[in-house]
Amino acid sequence: MTDPHAIVIGGGQAGLATTHALLTRGLRTVLLEAGAEPVGSWPRYYDNLTLFSPARYSSLPGLPFPGDPDRYPHRDEVVGYLRRYAARLDADIRTHHRVTTVARDGDGFTVRTDSGDTVAAPAVIAATGGFSRPHRPALPGLDRFTGTVLHSADYRTPEPFTGQRVIVVGAGNSAVQIAAELAAHATVTLATRAPVRFEPQRPFGRDVHFWSAAVGFDHLPIGHLLRSKPASPVLDAGAYRAAIAAGRTGQRRMFTHIEGSTVRWPDGSTDEADTIILATGFRPDVSYLDSLGALRDRVPLHTRGVSTTVPGLGCVGLEWQRSFASATLRGVGRDAAYVVTRLATTTSPVRRRCCQPVG
Ligand code: FAD
Repeated sequence: MTDPHAIVIGGGQAGLATTHALLTRGLRTVLLEAGAEPVGSWPRYYDNLTLFSPARYSSLPGLPFPGDPDRYPHRDEVVGYLRRYAARLDADIRTHHRVTTVARDGDGFTVRTDSGDTVAAPAVIAATGGFSRPHRPALPGLDRFTGTVLHSADYRTPEPFTGQRVIVVGAGNSAVQIAAELAAHATVTLATRAPVRFEPQRPFGRDVHFWSAAVGFDHLPIGHLLRSKPASPVLDAGAYRAAIAAGRTGQRRMFTHIEGSTVRWPDGSTDEADTIILATGFRPDVSYLDSLGALRDRVPLHTRGVSTTVPGLGCVGLEWQRSFASATLRGVGRDAAYVVTRLATTTSPVRRRCCQPVG
């Protein structure tokens, strides 16, 4: 293959949607994926994960999610869907290619992988996900906790926790889902800094994504305007709130500190704990961009996914990079099309070399 017009790093939904957008514009594309398959992180998420969006709102551009459009697909269905999506792309997808560095090379880039291969192109789009670096906040005494501490990224099933006293830290979807499913096996307390913000999954009889699409909320390009990004509410068809109300999952304000195996709460009371699960979110890992001057605090400097410091560089798949839906199956395709259009038309070195008809 002659040199590509663009290199996409990461073969999850963001990388695949970006590749689709590039191919749609007739641009030669190489997609580099670290893993064995271009299916993103989905196989590594917990076993019982079902999507918070119905199938009809869980598609990438050009391929509807199969089956009953009103059901909430399981994690493994997403893996199958992404596998089929990748197979239908007429793209050069190279698996087992973990990118280690992206360096400036004239008015383009050279991308190096852990196998020592290099690929050059005038445009690079980082699509390695907003959830690749588990965030572990420094909680008082956590380093001296004598039980087990794990991040929600390492949680798969509830059975290993049977009979234990477990504290789940966090107020988001993962924290609440994990706490609710653990409650049948363990004594569970959800520890949160602020009360969990529940939103009904089906207000007025329709899924919340229907209303969001109807009023155009998902499309609002407001991500870059927000100084602090609001945490997503927990979508609940009723089961989670019922579990908390029934006392199967206790909910308490964040503990003040930990001594050995004892957790002390703000009112001075204490509980013993065997395991603490940190459902405290994720950050992107784009360390391969380090040498470009494209990052601040390890996060890309960008406006709506287009680098503000490095011409020809884009990113797709970051939380709130453009809209509320940026880091979701339903929203990432719009962001990918936007970033590709911007890179192909407004960055002169890319425009000169990218926007010629494919020869
Ligand atoms: P990933 O899926 O993380 O894919 C990134 C890819 O990049 C991976 O394949 C990885 O191997 C590869 N990679 C990483 N580093 C390199 C490198 N240096 N070189 C080459 N390749 C590399 N969204 C929804 O729409 N609905 C949901 O119900 C939903 N549930 C979620 C539940 C959890 C627990 C989490 C964490 C997220 C959820 N999301 C959901 C959000 C989002 O859709 C997923 O996180 C999704 O996996 C993000 O896709 P991505 O392509 O951006 O990143």
